[in-house]
Formats: sequence, C-alpha cells, structure tokens
Amino acid sequence: MHIDIVSVFPQYFETLTLSLLGKAREKGLISVEARNLRDWTCDVHHAVDDTPCGGGAGMVMKPAVWGECLDELLGLEASDISENAGYTTFCQAVQSGRNVKISRKYEAREGTVLIFPNPSAPLFTQNDAKELSQKKHIIFGCGRYEGYDARIPRYYETRGVDVREYSIGDYVLNGGEAAVSVMLEAITRLIPGFMGNPDSIIEESYSGEDSLLEHAQFTKPARWRGMDVPEIYMSGHHAKIEAAKRSESLIRTSNIRPDLVERIHCEKLSEEDRKTLISQGWDVSGEHPRKISAER
Ligand code: SAM
Repeated sequence: MHIDIVSVFPQYFETLTLSLLGKAREKGLISVEARNLRDWTCDVHHAVDDTPCGGGAGMVMKPAVWGECLDELLGLEASDISENAGYTTFCQAVQSGRNVKISRKYEAREGTVLIFPNPSAPLFTQNDAKELSQKKHIIFGCGRYEGYDARIPRYYETRGVDVREYSIGDYVLNGGEAAVSVMLEAITRLIPGFMGNPDSIIEESYSGEDSLLEHAQFTKPARWRGMDVPEIYMSGHHAKIEAAKRSESLIRTSNIRPDLVERIHCEKLSEEDRKTLISQGWDVSGEHPRKISAER
C-alpha cells in the first residue's frame, strides 16, 4: 500500500518511522510520503487559505491549491465538471440541508481512495479500517483552520475518485494531522504481515463477527498489591477460560456500549451467550437483542 499525506505540517508525520509502522515501511509492506500542501501554491506568501464566503470566523482552505496538489497525486488533468455531473444538485442540497451523493464517471486510478478527516462526517470505524486495509493507494488530506472548501471532495467524486470524509470522534481538533495518524494506524495494522502475531488482531475489540468490546486482560504475577487475577484465568482449563472471556466481553459491552449489543444477530448467539445477555436485562427472542430492564 502506498500512502500520501498532504498537510501544511508534513513534519508532524516524522514519527511514522517508529514502532511497528516503521518496521512495516522497512519491510516494504507500506510506503508513506508526507507532502507539504504549500509546495502547490504559486503566490509569494504560499497561502493555502482565504476568508469564508458568507462571513464568519476563521479561514477556509482554498480549493485551487488542493486542486493542483490532488490532480498531480491522482494523475488527473484539471477540467471543469459538466452541468449534468450532479454539482447543481449538490448546491441545491447544501441550500436545503439535504444529503446527496454525486454521480460519478470513473476516471481516476482504481484502488485509490482520497480521505479527508472532518468532524462533521460519519464516524470512522474498525469496519472502515478493515475495508481500507485492502486498498493499494490512500491519499489523506489534512484540513486546518475552519476546514477545507466543500467543493474539493465533491469535485473529485465527480471525477470518479473514491472520496471519503470521516470523523474520528465527537470533538474538534486543530487540524487533520492527528486524525490522519489515528486512521493510518488503524488501517495499516490490519494489512497482512504487519503484526508479528496475526492472531492478535482477530480477538480485539470491534473485531470478530459481533464486534464486541474485548474482555479484561491480565498478566503475571497472579497477585499484585493484594489484587488477584481472577481464578479462572489461572486454572489452565482452556474451554472454561474462553467461556469466561466471552461472558465478560458481553457484559462489558452491555454496560459500556449497548449500541453494539443491539446490532448482534440473536440467531448467532450460543445458549451461554443468551443466558449472559438475559442476566443483563436483554430480550434475545427477536432478530437483535433489545434492552428491557436493568440487570437481573
Ligand atoms: N469548522 C470545523 C467544524 O466546526 O466542524 C472544524 C475545523 S477543525 C478546527 C480543522 C480540521 O481539523 C478539519 O478540517 C479536520 O480536517 C480536522 N478535524 C478536527 N476535528 C476532527 C475530528 N473529530 N475528526 C476528524 N478530523 C477532525
């Protein structure tokens, strides 16, 4: 996989030579290039931002500079988009507050995905990371200031590029760099060969068939500062340990992320799983669990 990161602070990504990511780069599993957006400016001040249309605080990233940069990285010739490409519908949608998908005609390289971190976009999840770990080329565009001109992602969508906008959580950061680091790490660690032990990504939180939170982890010594590792974990009885981990994982998910329990398909639950969920106040007789009462 090749990753291009476009930012006004490319130095931010110097840490990507560290740890497992650094090893994956050495092994040739991934290549990463952090690029300075200002290299695509053509004015003496290397300006990448301008005042917002319609007024308001702060500055907005200019489409012209992003256009020059992304055309080059995507191998596209600059062109105006045609009347029927869906942009008029997009403008009408902006005015009426509707969400609209722009129709696309494929032009850009297959396997390339253009990602813009954005706090007002859908949440980035483990499933997105899994899907993106199969791609050949990802371009991340880091926003700054009040964000980037909304026409940038729409333009590349009409040019056939697979464009995604993701939020990494319900809070606002100063820029997209931290969000890109988060997504990049979540994606690349799922590339086959990245992890020393591939099993370690199978049983993690949000992974597996039902995307539960992981059970608590312990290591030796069995007693630390008067606190014992739960006996079952030290019993050596593999089947019982697995059952205890599964039950703890269900209870923890029920307490912390009941929305994840609601997505489980009841038909896939074992008898033991059903008992655990019922004990936590879930009705498991329908298609998905439904919370009916506090813990029983
Ligand atoms: N005006 C924007 C808003 O209120 O939604 C916030 C812009 S923020 C200060 C600047 C940039 O940081 C964004 O364009 C985006 O690239 C990045 N960013 C900030 N918070 C983020 C989040 N939760 N998830 C992903 N990207 C984020």
